[in-house]
Amino acid sequence: MIQSETPASLIMIFGATGDLAKRKLYPSLFHLFRKGKLSEHFAVIGVARRPWSDEVLREHVRDSVLTSIKDAENIEEFVSHFYYKPHDVSDSQSYIQLKALANELDQKYCLEGNRVFYLAMAPEFFGTIAEHLKTDGLTDTNGFHRLVIEKPFGHDLESAIELNKRIRNVFSENDIYRIDHYLGKEMVQNIEVIRFANAIFEPLWNNRFISNIQITSSEMLGVEERGGYYETSGALRDMVQNHMLQMVALLAMEPPIRLTPKEIRSEKVKVLGALRSIEQDEIPQYFVRGQYGPGEINGEKVIGYREEQNVNKESNTDTYVAGKLMIDNFRWAGVPFYIRTGKRMTAKSTKIVIQFKDIPMNLYYKSEKNLDPNLLVIHIQPEEGITLHLNAKDTGQMMETTPVKLNFSNNHAPGLNTPEAYEKLLFDCLRGDATNFTHWDEVALSWSFVDKISHNWESEKADFPNYSAGTMGPTAADELLEKDGFSWWPVTDLDVNDC
Ligand code: NAD
Repeated sequence: MIQSETPASLIMIFGATGDLAKRKLYPSLFHLFRKGKLSEHFAVIGVARRPWSDEVLREHVRDSVLTSIKDAENIEEFVSHFYYKPHDVSDSQSYIQLKALANELDQKYCLEGNRVFYLAMAPEFFGTIAEHLKTDGLTDTNGFHRLVIEKPFGHDLESAIELNKRIRNVFSENDIYRIDHYLGKEMVQNIEVIRFANAIFEPLWNNRFISNIQITSSEMLGVEERGGYYETSGALRDMVQNHMLQMVALLAMEPPIRLTPKEIRSEKVKVLGALRSIEQDEIPQYFVRGQYGPGEINGEKVIGYREEQNVNKESNTDTYVAGKLMIDNFRWAGVPFYIRTGKRMTAKSTKIVIQFKDIPMNLYYKSEKNLDPNLLVIHIQPEEGITLHLNAKDTGQMMETTPVKLNFSNNHAPGLNTPEAYEKLLFDCLRGDATNFTHWDEVALSWSFVDKISHNWESEKADFPNYSAGTMGPTAADELLEKDGFSWWPVTDLDVNDC
């Protein structure tokens, strides 16, 4: 049964003074509180290095909420549930003090010993914190204990296995909530509904009717001040291993027998297990990497990646990836899934284009143009919606065709205000619904797929930079599709507003 309100719980945010907590977690918790979805039996302990007091944290939370939400009635009541503890992640004394505060708040707010530990900190601390939570007794209560872990979950398969071992010594798989915030996005969650709630799509959703699927996630921003982190990651690890492969899994999975976390995640695991493994010498046939050089964004000159702060002047890091994925199963054999993602591209856009096969014969060929293929476009962000591209009769005497678009836009639906991904994910986690979090098996399969490519790319120096800021990536990414007889659908031409 779906609960409309979260159970009593203590939420501990490790990294309470950080960017993620400020921009996402506090506003999201406030939205839940304001909508009456957060049990009144809740308390938050913010944990971080700085020597703050409860009052300073409350001021910080108030500011963070008021920056994004103008109408914040009840804000005082909300922030009164927040407490702060200065903390050293590797010092047992810190955890013992934290435990004393947690036990006190447990009594004060009748929290029934339920605890959510949210690790919004640098990944190198994840294992250490999890271990201390157990050895210093923070998990010694009768309620539930859940661990929420931010990305990245490891740097490759080996480090992910190591991290997983450490946290599994403390938490069972069912109590580990690995965040992939794309899974909290409205239109990513809508993929399943579009597929499994519409009789007109499911029968066509296979290699007999679909010619190819394209997923683009492009950003206009560069690395900003995150150059140091990005140098150790790159687009492949930062975007493909998690978000892009998760979208592929949702698009390609079989209908689950039930909408339970176990059934849905097991179908996604099967897709990831069916990804065609790429041999080292085949990588250039399937994957293209890029790095942006100087260029122009919105008419303004911008620097290249190698000139960014904390970036090596000869950096070999990919800021762009395009790939062709093949899923070797009955449903998808022969259908390429093309993915591309990068920084400093022409537009900020995440879109999925499902291109259907051409009809067997064009009766309207005399119109001297080929019919456009039917497309189903799923707009993930910033626009949210779906567009179906069809052909219809052009008005007039002749039997000429014209492309038409049937369009649904969430952004334009009256009264619809899509919740932020983090709001949904926090709500799910507090209710114990792990559907939209990644299971270990998904993480492991994604890393083993990505590792082959990243190890190869690390061992060979690329000819970077190979695309200018403000473009859609290197020309080799276009050739990846051209050799199969396809081309990328330009994301800006597909915008909902274009219809
Ligand atoms: P941040 O650097 O802004 O904040 C880090 C927090 O950790 C701070 O509160 C800091 O005080 C605390 N901290 C660091 N070292 C500590 C120590 N030794 N002891 C106690 N506290 C310590 O980082 P962030 O941007 O908030 O990111 C946090 C996590 O979330 C990272 O894993 C990041 O990859 C992930 N993430 C962030 C975003 C984002 O939008 N910021 C998006 C996705 C994922």
